[in-house]
Amino acid sequence: MERPMIEHKDRSATTHEVVAELRRRSAFVMVSHVKPDGDTLGAGLALGLALRAIGKRVAYFQQDPVPRNLRFLPDADQVSRAVPADLPGDALWVFCDMSDASRAGEFLPPIDHANTLNIDHHLANSRFAGLNYILETECSTGTCVLRILRALGATITPEIATCLLTTIMTDTGGFMHSNTTPQVLRESAELIELGANKEEITSQVFANKRFAAVCLLGAALGGMRLDDVGRYCYSVVDEVMLAACKADGEDTEEIIQHLRAVEGVEVAALFKAFDGEVRVSLRSTGHVNVQSAAGRLGGGGHFRAAGLTFVGTVPAALAAVHEALRAEGL
Ligand code: AMP
Ligand code: MN
Ligand code: MN
Repeated sequence: MERPMIEHKDRSATTHEVVAELRRRSAFVMVSHVKPDGDTLGAGLALGLALRAIGKRVAYFQQDPVPRNLRFLPDADQVSRAVPADLPGDALWVFCDMSDASRAGEFLPPIDHANTLNIDHHLANSRFAGLNYILETECSTGTCVLRILRALGATITPEIATCLLTTIMTDTGGFMHSNTTPQVLRESAELIELGANKEEITSQVFANKRFAAVCLLGAALGGMRLDDVGRYCYSVVDEVMLAACKADGEDTEEIIQHLRAVEGVEVAALFKAFDGEVRVSLRSTGHVNVQSAAGRLGGGGHFRAAGLTFVGTVPAALAAVHEALRAEGL
């Protein structure tokens, strides 16, 4: 069989080029990022479901387990760290919602560059793949996938619609962030008309909090700090707090939005010091570019939502992040 070739391109691939590549391939592996969220997982599942419906073989790779609040997604039980041994040589590895391939973690087998597709909406995507479909103005990777599905002429089933609406609701914070454009609302309405189960997404992703999560929220809010001028609010969650609440990393999700919601605050940060690393989440109300700040410390993200993993102690992380934020105009 003739081996399809895709060249590295500095520009983003067109939707047409992506569709042509999908049609050429017989097998796919959808790859989501570490500490998966509803966008990386929902985008991969939506595309995977659509490709399976047209007779393609699809597997799902994700280093970390599916978070509890996303297990309701169709086919979420097929996602794992194990890759099928009998994949054809021309399987296309589709990285969803990653500014860099390293965000997929450390357990990927070696992959031929020509067999990679990168679908994403982050600022400063490193364009690591053979084919890069990067739409920075999209609210989610899921809406990038929606463009592809439309061009492919795929039937958007209720299952696919639920996956796509989950990506939108995750990355717009339930239609609250500034990326909630009229277009996003129109597309969400269409997805609901196509059968997306908005009630289930709302209850699974946004309600349904474990007692442990609310306990941890209380502990994190109890320890929050405000800088001298009231523009920077931050808190730390460590192993001791997790143990006291019988909580785990998944229970930290909602904390940062409360820090950003404090009146006058322009940047919020949550320092997650457990599992042997210090991961930092950053959120901005729009004045400070937290993607640039995170980028100074090896991380990335979006203008108003970014993250990084800090190598060092919590006090060192606090100092370095504050410094990076100041450099970006905090
Ligand atoms: P989080 O605070 O984990 O919800 O992440 C917010 C945004 O920052 C998401 O778009 C992530 O993809 C991005 N992000 C988080 N951590 C990292 C990291 N270590 N490197 C690059 N981007 C990150
Ligand atoms: Mn993501
Ligand atoms: Mn995203």
